[in-house]
Amino acid sequence: MSHPDLLTPKRNFRLSVVIPLYNEEANLDALSRRLLQVLPGVSEDFEIIYVNDGSTDGTARGIEAWHQREPRIKGVMLSRNFGHQAAISAGLAFASGEAVVVMDGDLQDRPEEIPRFVALWQQGHEVVYAVRRRRAGVPWWKRLAYAAFYRVQQRVADTPVPLDSGDFALLDRRVVQWLNQFPEGDRFLRGLRSWVGLRQVGLEVDRDARAAGEPKYRLRSLVRLAADGLVSFSLKPLRWLLVLGGCLILAGSATLVGSLAAGGSSLVSLSGLMCLLSGVQLAALGIVGEYVGRTYMNLKARPVFLVDRLLGLEQHLAQVPRHLAFPTPAGRKAA
Ligand code: UDP
Ligand code: MG
Repeated sequence: MSHPDLLTPKRNFRLSVVIPLYNEEANLDALSRRLLQVLPGVSEDFEIIYVNDGSTDGTARGIEAWHQREPRIKGVMLSRNFGHQAAISAGLAFASGEAVVVMDGDLQDRPEEIPRFVALWQQGHEVVYAVRRRRAGVPWWKRLAYAAFYRVQQRVADTPVPLDSGDFALLDRRVVQWLNQFPEGDRFLRGLRSWVGLRQVGLEVDRDARAAGEPKYRLRSLVRLAADGLVSFSLKPLRWLLVLGGCLILAGSATLVGSLAAGGSSLVSLSGLMCLLSGVQLAALGIVGEYVGRTYMNLKARPVFLVDRLLGLEQHLAQVPRHLAFPTPAGRKAA
């Protein structure tokens, strides 16, 4: 006979949903409404943590209004725009759920999928991550770049990020606590998440087009994120450079010997070779620089984010580790 608990999964666990918001005023109402429709059916004890990542539109006011109306909607207001990964880190630092869902605030990730994540968690998986079946409303060049990135990252990283998985995921409390203790400043969370291990499972979801507003990731930040994903998880690129250097030395010596034997060489092929070699050297220097630069930034050990004020999360300030944010009491009260 099966145990009754297996037939009816428990509904009185604490569920946190962490959502970074940067100028998402236009999506906030629809997002909150859809979440409030879904979450009560999943758990009786849930919280929604909106992280306002230095928005310049009405996002902060919107979060305040929703917090007034529904105290289970809470806010972490950062002191400026720290970026998507830092904003998620901030939400994770304040989340107190036994299960924590991370999702985007532009409704590309569907709140209605959350019950499927929770079901897999209740079956014993500590990390349930979304795998994109289809990306709606993403230009072809971006799609191509994403596909290329995930494939290169798989080759480079010692603990690869699963193909086409994003930040949309459910994390068990244990995983969140570990992530909060990671000291690094470059937080490529989907990489850290897979580095953690335990029982992980991918869940296929469709990704909708952004509901309103413009994508907040500009090309520059996407490139930075990709570099983090490649460099933060492996020293392989450095080793490849060594191998490449070795090959070039061999090829160069062979060419030199060959051209000497043939009694001279053309200027054109020589300048081509020079150009190629200096290109390789500069690129190599650049890759080394990516590592050295990160070492430098991390040595400074600045916190990942700073909190301006909190809505409904004041009592959790003390639990935030010092390397993530300084535990100074939040400044102003809600305006
Ligand atoms: N975001 C953020 N800080 C930023 C950039 C983005 O908090 O500096 C949030 C944004 O509001 C959204 C999520 O991160 O909720 C994903 O951003 P976006 O939709 O622009 O990224 P994309 O879907 O293009 O990868
Ligand atoms: Mg988006």
